Amino acid sequence: MKKELELFNKLSALLLKAEKDQPVATPIPAERLLETLDISLQDTPVSEAYFEKTLEALVINTPRTASNLFFNQLFGGRKPKATLGDLLAVLLNNSMYTYKVAGPQVGIEKEILHRICDMIGYGNDSDGTFAPGGSMSNFMAMVMARDAYNDTIPHEGVQQKLTLYTSAESHYSIPKNAAFMGIGRKQVRYIDTDEQGKMIPSKLEAQIKKDREDNFHPFFVNATAGTTVLGAFDAIPPLSKICKKYNLWLHVDGAYCGGVIFSKKYNHLVDGLEETDSFSVNAHKMLGTPLSCSIIVTKHKKYLYDSFSNDAAYLYQTDGDDYNLGKTSLQCGRRNDALKFWTLWKSVGTNGLESIINHQFHLSEVAREYINNHPDYTLYSFKDSISVCFNYKNIPAQQLCTALYKQGSLMVGFGHFNHTEFVRLVTINSGNSKEEILNFFEVLENFVAKHPELKAPEVFQQ
Ligand SMILES: *Cc1c(COP(=O)(O)O)cnc(C)c1O
Repeated sequence: MKKELELFNKLSALLLKAEKDQPVATPIPAERLLETLDISLQDTPVSEAYFEKTLEALVINTPRTASNLFFNQLFGGRKPKATLGDLLAVLLNNSMYTYKVAGPQVGIEKEILHRICDMIGYGNDSDGTFAPGGSMSNFMAMVMARDAYNDTIPHEGVQQKLTLYTSAESHYSIPKNAAFMGIGRKQVRYIDTDEQGKMIPSKLEAQIKKDREDNFHPFFVNATAGTTVLGAFDAIPPLSKICKKYNLWLHVDGAYCGGVIFSKKYNHLVDGLEETDSFSVNAHKMLGTPLSCSIIVTKHKKYLYDSFSNDAAYLYQTDGDDYNLGKTSLQCGRRNDALKFWTLWKSVGTNGLESIINHQFHLSEVAREYINNHPDYTLYSFKDSISVCFNYKNIPAQQLCTALYKQGSLMVGFGHFNHTEFVRLVTINSGNSKEEILNFFEVLENFVAKHPELKAPEVFQQ
């Protein structure tokens, strides 16, 4: 293994240098991938030297998500202490299902879950687990809600016409999960949002009433803390009031911005969280751990066990259920996603996590201020959001973002709201400073100046 670790150090050094010297890797067009890199697998081994060269080429040609010109996704940057934790998790290679096999790693996972449950006021009956991503966290919440609504479903299958509610701006995993869990995509009700992308509670209540009259069985509401495009926060208190009135499970999908629970300055955005039934957050988004690190907690430990435990005499041979985490997880064998978040949290403290969150909002303010002070830009997003959505000189966002990517200049994506398409700058890399945000605009403007073919459609030019 020593040889491989040496090679790993060498490859790491190569990558870190490349990230600095050329923050955006020149992309290989997908149709030319196989002729550019030797990816094919053969019957015979390759020499060590060739193996090393091939890995170098692979590293150099992979998109650089930790660089200061990567703004494309709801993650970015690198927290060295978190990366260290994940490297250790790979080296240790435990499976999180039993205390016998994972030992202290179980304690690490439980400590994170308990601290989060405490922080959001979930009380003594709460518990949680790490899921393979935010989509699967939502899935687990939806399954718990389904089984809490009708505990015969895990045995008999779904026989009622169940309906569930989410905003029109919520994540696509909600309908996908509805399909997985035997409820059906057609039973998802998309509730309209206001002009800032937040679910309108009165529309939710009206739809629930209508469905009850039509003999449907409403069972679940998904609120979003940080919608995927605008970064909007659904207001929890009015939603929880409705859910209590009609006896529906309320989940908060905080995959993107649930990290605000760590900030005294911004946790008001999820006021009322203690009144909800479940909450999920991706530490690999705002908290900056490597992918993936997704946490789901519920106020009702009972439902987590009821929906996800299954006896297995060959697996659970020692220790109590509280230490055999396989009793509450989606998977059987499960990688250790907790350690990378724990190494980060341990090293910077809860105050350090708060600084990360506050800094991301600060960077978004820098970006909005720049846009507001420059008349060539139009802003489409709102305050208290780390998604900064804009257009520049009315250039079609898709065309602009694609050209920036293909020429290896800048990684940024686009989205739309209310039939308007725009560039979405995500200020989630807390390793960035004001300088890098201003540099983003400079790179974009210089690029447009050099590419006269990028211009507003004619309707804007009159
Ligand atoms: C990213 C995201 C998800 C999905 O999380 P994955 O880890 O990518 O599966 C779900 N909901 C919201 C609001 C998100 O932003």
